[in-house]
Amino acid sequence: MQIGRVAVTAALTSVQDTRAVLVGGPGQRGRRTLPGVICSCCGEDRDESTVTSLLCHDEIQVCRICVGWLNGRVGAIDVTPTLPVVDMDEAARFCEAAGFEVNRYDDGFAFVQLAGQSVFDLDLIPDMSPEANHAGCYIITADVGDWHARLVAAGLHVTPIEDMPWGMREFTLTDPSGNNIRVGRSTSDDAEEV
Ligand SMILES: [Zn+2]
Repeated sequence: MQIGRVAVTAALTSVQDTRAVLVGGPGQRGRRTLPGVICSCCGEDRDESTVTSLLCHDEIQVCRICVGWLNGRVGAIDVTPTLPVVDMDEAARFCEAAGFEVNRYDDGFAFVQLAGQSVFDLDLIPDMSPEANHAGCYIITADVGDWHARLVAAGLHVTPIEDMPWGMREFTLTDPSGNNIRVGRSTSDDAEEV
């Protein structure tokens, strides 16, 4: 029943066609210094950064895994893009430097996750030209600034965070195979910030 709350749509189409929904930024890992919260759904003791309350009943708290499970129950889908890479070892090192977990399926395919949630897969296409690669994915997260700071700290090249005309605050991380991994959130969410 492990259903991470990551919904990624499309893969090898244009970047703007792809969307990933990722709740909780990578900076949240390792923060578990406070007692956890008991999820009202599964009863597990969860990191408080992965638990939220219902809008109408704030005494009911639900963890990220159960939200993912509920998402499936209401007909939502999870989609994981497949990114082409020219060198699997290089791609794996890049992803790990970016804070993702890489699980190899075989020499030519790997699953990339964040805190147990599927983010994208890697498919070895050794004769692809990175310059000609226009694939990518879009990770939507509330923590754009945290993601940016972490990737910069890891020494990875990222574009500055910008508010784009299409209503997203985002930046782009480009991997060695030319995949554009864009990270952002809707600027319309600004009104919800405190
Ligand atoms: Zn739960």
